[in-house]
Formats: sequence, C-alpha cells, structure tokens
Amino acid sequence: MRINLEDVVVKYGKYVAADGVSFDVGPGEVVSIIGPNGSGKSTIIKSIAQIIQPSSGRISLNGRDLSTIDISEIAKLIGYVPQNFHYLFYSNVMETVLLGRKPHIKWKVSKNDLDIVQKALENMGITSMAGKFMDELSGGEKQKVYIARTLAQQPQLYLLDEPTSNLDLKHQIEVLEITKRLTKDQGASMIVALHDLNLALKYSDKVAMMQKGRLYAFGRPEDVLTVQNINSVYGVEAVVVESGYGKYIVPIRAK
Ligand code: ADP
Ligand code: MG
Repeated sequence: MRINLEDVVVKYGKYVAADGVSFDVGPGEVVSIIGPNGSGKSTIIKSIAQIIQPSSGRISLNGRDLSTIDISEIAKLIGYVPQNFHYLFYSNVMETVLLGRKPHIKWKVSKNDLDIVQKALENMGITSMAGKFMDELSGGEKQKVYIARTLAQQPQLYLLDEPTSNLDLKHQIEVLEITKRLTKDQGASMIVALHDLNLALKYSDKVAMMQKGRLYAFGRPEDVLTVQNINSVYGVEAVVVESGYGKYIVPIRAK
C-alpha cells in the first residue's frame, strides 16, 4: 500500500504537535519514525490511525483521502499497535488475538480465522500462552500478544508505536524481523516509531527524523542517521562505526 502525508498539522488545543509533516511510504516499505520524547512520533502515527484528526493537510492511502474511507474498511486496512495499550484483563491471549480477525469475520469464526490466529501466535512465539489471562503476562509478553493480534488482522498497513519498548534484545530483533518479512510478503507497508537508532538503521527502508513536531530529515537510514543529525536533534555526540555486520551508531556523550 502507498501512504502519502502532505503538510499534516496536528494540534492539541493551541499546541502544535505536528507541524507540516510530509512524507511518502511505498508498497512493501518499512519507514521508521525516530526523534526525542515529545517530538511528535505518536502524534503522526495516531493521525494515520485516525485516532486524531489533523487540523490541516492530507493523508492518503493508495491515493484515496483517508478521511473519506469508511471506518469498517480502515479497520481492515490499518493494524495499529499503540504505545500504551489497554487490555481486557478478563480475556485470555487466544481471545485477544482473535479480536484481530473481527473486521474480517462475517457471521461466525471460521476455520481459516482460527488458522490465521494460530499462525500469529506461532510467529510471536506465544502459542504456549494461548490460555493465559492478559493480567498474568509480563509487559513484554502483553506487547507480543498485541503484535500477534495485528498480525492476525493481516492489514495493508502496520502502524507500530514503539513495539519493542518492553522487549528483551532477542525479541526486539525477532519482532522487527517478522513484521518486516510479513510486510514485504504481503506487499503491505509498515510505519514504526522506534527509540533505538541502531534498530532503525538496520530494519528501515526509510527513516523519518522528527524534531519538535517538524520533519527534520527523511530518506535512507544511512543518509538520515548521520553524526551531524543525531547531534542536532538529540543533543548527543555519537560516532558511526563500520563493522563486519554493517554500520552501528555509538552514543558518546550528551552535549
Ligand atoms: P513522541 O511520541 O515523539 O514522544 P507525542 O506525539 O506523544 O511525542 O507528543 C508530542 C507532543 O504533544 C508532546 O509535547 C506531548 O506532550 C504533546 N501531546 C501529546 N498528546 C497530547 C494530548 N492528548 N494533549 C495535549 N498534548 C499532547
Ligand atoms: Mg510516543
């Protein structure tokens, strides 16, 4: 799916949280949104998920203005994992992931729906937790359940807001590898807010770097994640080192 943002402005009261943001995401592409706390990453993601309405500008999916697309169609097209999720503590893992199929279910849950849920649980490595209640899980396990729910939804656009924030190192890598592979396989697209610059460098096709609500830089990861840009936007001195596995960003000190 192709997503275009044109001059998107989002306000909370008088406060401008996104100030004229424009970028494009092509079919099969993974775009990371990075930037310090409060720079507008979640705001941009929420405006694409239609949780909040931009006060001006345009967001389109495959050339169609997002605001004209029916909410039931959006529920099929966009899979959103919020940064702070609320869970139904009396539901178990299986039921929570099955909710991802809700936009697709006609009369009753089909064998196909259950197969897709099973596959999503397997992909997130949480099959053994299927019968557990949500309030019996750790933060990282809950996060995996929410990602599995979005995988079960099979959306055209994955919108993930810091999906790896509660996960250990291995699961951070696994979640990004799996979601990236599914995005490519399904010809979908993925927009993901990330804190870790090295994950952004490694897993994105493009990086959108935010600073105080504005898009500071957009482009290929190695062009955006430069020592100069990191210094200007994060106020951190860093070096980029070459290794046998590619480039890595090493923060040295705060300015
Ligand atoms: P990020 O995800 O990059 O940390 P956000 O998009 O969540 O940043 O927030 C951008 C700015 O908007 C912050 O200064 C934040 O305090 C403000 N903000 C976010 N949500 C609200 C809200 N519901 N009401 C008022 N201000 C908000
Ligand atoms: Mg955020």
